[in-house]
Amino acid sequence: MQNYVLGIDIGGTIIKGALFNSEGQLLETSSIGTQESQGKEKILGNLLSLVNSLQKKAKKVSAIGIGVAGILDVGKEVLLQSPNLKNLENAHIKNFLAEALRIPVYLENDANAAALGEKWAGAGKNIENFLCITLGTGIGGGLILHNELWSGENGKAGEFGHMIVAHRGVPCACGKNGCLEAYSSGEAISRMARKTLQSGACSSLKNLSGGDFNNIDAEMVCRAARNGDTVAIEIYKQAAAYLAVGIANVNNLLDIHYVILGGGVSKAFDVFAPFLLEEIKKQVFIISRERIVVVPSALGSAAGIYGAGYLALQRAGLSEKNCVGTPHG
Ligand SMILES: [Zn+2]
Repeated sequence: MQNYVLGIDIGGTIIKGALFNSEGQLLETSSIGTQESQGKEKILGNLLSLVNSLQKKAKKVSAIGIGVAGILDVGKEVLLQSPNLKNLENAHIKNFLAEALRIPVYLENDANAAALGEKWAGAGKNIENFLCITLGTGIGGGLILHNELWSGENGKAGEFGHMIVAHRGVPCACGKNGCLEAYSSGEAISRMARKTLQSGACSSLKNLSGGDFNNIDAEMVCRAARNGDTVAIEIYKQAAAYLAVGIANVNNLLDIHYVILGGGVSKAFDVFAPFLLEEIKKQVFIISRERIVVVPSALGSAAGIYGAGYLALQRAGLSEKNCVGTPHG
């Protein structure tokens, strides 16, 4: 009998889901608002109704994989910390669904799930080692080493956005200072643009924002950069320069060369990628210089649901190839 699994991606504003068969074909997708501000019960209720609606499309769903934005406990059952899902912190997501549905549920960090998705069906297919970076409002990361997700000792490996790239630098949402996220995320790009304009710089962003600098986001800065706005181009170059530091550090530590860029900010790939590559090459050893490859995500915003679906297939033993890592403690 054909087996089916669900891949779910819980984000701060939207919960996305997809139904896959055991061959890995995506059969249905659906989504629902997270309604984060309305509290834990509401979020879990929305999650359950999304799962129920997808379940109805298949005879029998054998397992559910879930990617969620935040830090999970070692056993990957509880969301411990999440700036964008504050109301879901300490929620036993795994038990809640497993008890309601009586089927196995597997949880993973959303950026790790995105890396698994790219490995399974995206830009990381047939690539043995790579770093998958999710550039969004914040910055996430997932590491595939020897074809497996590297989870680390606590299961929280790949927190690329919180690598410190500037000693005593700009404050980060995590409470530390100088994290890459504070320099290269979508939020950082809009902050830098606002600051530059407030200091009197001449830029088309003034008109694009309607004079209210709070309207500026990374996508608007990208549009201005594509139209040749030198202020906007410079902001993307600054963000890319720090990103290059992070990638060069990873290359020096692990000697891996393949980097996938996903997340909303990666839509500006054409704007910053040539400069990014140039900067990375300046900072790695000669032996790595010509091997560095930076590519955009092939799955875009669907990477998370693919990865979650893959997680479910593998953990439930429905897929032959295993590349879902377990903590290495
Ligand atoms: Zn941080």
